[in-house]
Amino acid sequence: MGHLEKNWSNWFSGGLLGQQLIRYLVLVQLGALVIMLLSQVLISWPVRMEQDEIIQLGRISGALQQLQIAMDDQETGLRGYELTRDVHFLAPFQTGSAHFSHTTAQLMTINHPASIKPFVDQAVQIGRQWHNEYALPMINSVAHDARVHFTTLDNAKHQFDRFRKAYSLVLLKVDNLIHVDSIRLKVLSVVSILIYALIAIAAMTLVTILLSRQLRKWVEPIITLTRAVDRYSKGDLHHPAPSYQDHTELGRLFTGVETMRVALLKQFRSMENMALQDGLTGIWNRRYLDERLALDVRDAIVSVNHRFCVFMCDIDYFKAINDTYGHQEGDRVLREVAERIQQNIRKGDVLARYGGEEFVIISYTDNRHALDYAERLRLSVRFVTVQDQRVSVSIGVAEYKQGETPKDILKRADDALYQAKQNGRNRVNFIA
Ligand code: GH3
Ligand code: MG
Ligand code: MG
Repeated sequence: MGHLEKNWSNWFSGGLLGQQLIRYLVLVQLGALVIMLLSQVLISWPVRMEQDEIIQLGRISGALQQLQIAMDDQETGLRGYELTRDVHFLAPFQTGSAHFSHTTAQLMTINHPASIKPFVDQAVQIGRQWHNEYALPMINSVAHDARVHFTTLDNAKHQFDRFRKAYSLVLLKVDNLIHVDSIRLKVLSVVSILIYALIAIAAMTLVTILLSRQLRKWVEPIITLTRAVDRYSKGDLHHPAPSYQDHTELGRLFTGVETMRVALLKQFRSMENMALQDGLTGIWNRRYLDERLALDVRDAIVSVNHRFCVFMCDIDYFKAINDTYGHQEGDRVLREVAERIQQNIRKGDVLARYGGEEFVIISYTDNRHALDYAERLRLSVRFVTVQDQRVSVSIGVAEYKQGETPKDILKRADDALYQAKQNGRNRVNFIA
């Protein structure tokens, strides 16, 4: 069995999906075959009945003709014997009557149509009556040299004529029936061919409908997946791929595309973050700051309620740290200062490295709170030390004014910082 399955899958390399398709095709076609076979049997039934009846009628007709011959043989034998008193003539009589019995027995075994049966019975009955009531007594009389009475002869002749009439009548009826049945058979054959053709067309239509429904079940999800993949190839990775629960290759394709999308999105996001983060401190970089500031300026133009301040923060005497303790120590100080400020800014505020040892904070507060807030940030840095010496920062604060560009507000914050430096460093200065 395993060998067989292996051969099968080797022969057909359409995978699970292909096998599912083939299985479906075989099932649908078997269904259609059964329908067509059944209808063939049902439709040919009346035709066969009709054919059987015609065959029966043919046998009845043949038997009736044998009956006639048997009667004629008896009659001829009887007449010859009467005229010549030669027993030689009794031979045809004997064969005729034996033939008559044999043929009537044969007739009884045939299934007679109801419209024929009484007439056949009547003819047989009249024939027997003639044989028993007239033919045999007449032979008897002649054998005993007695004269056969004229009335008897006349009655016998009448009886024989009655047989002829009955026989002709039944033969006529049989012939008529054969004729009618033949016409009916022709009509039935044509009609059955037509019905069969119609059923074949219906079965084929059914197969087509069922197959196209099944195909649609496969093709429609593929179309939606194609659309999704088109979007992904244009860089829009945000919508999940459509799902298709199936154990075939199709199901795996859908899950695979979704897995790929998620992986790509993750990679894309981490790359995006890397491009916007400062490598040394891990906080936002200048590029992010510029984008964010542009957005804030745009929001402030749209809504007067969108207020924010920019803090320009610069480490005091940083060059001296570098020069005295080395660049690596300077880097450590930069990282720690960034970390301290990051820990102390408010949720939603933005901390970015502006350049060298300068940081910018965008704070969504107005100037009433901005100074206290900047002061707190300045104080948070004093825990950073170099050889027991506290590191300090100076901060320039400016609140955004309507009409300013990002460059304008940065310039004002920088001016405030410059002033703080001038005023002795390690302090906050605010420019209105
Ligand atoms: P002030 O108090 O006026 O701000 O004096 P300062 O010494 O801090 O200012 P200055 O602009 O003279 O010195 C800044 C120094 O920062 C110069 C530069 O070598 C150093 N620097 C810039 N970027 C980095 C960095 O990534 N790592 C280190 N270790 N030093 C840096
Ligand atoms: Mg500086
Ligand atoms: Mg400095």
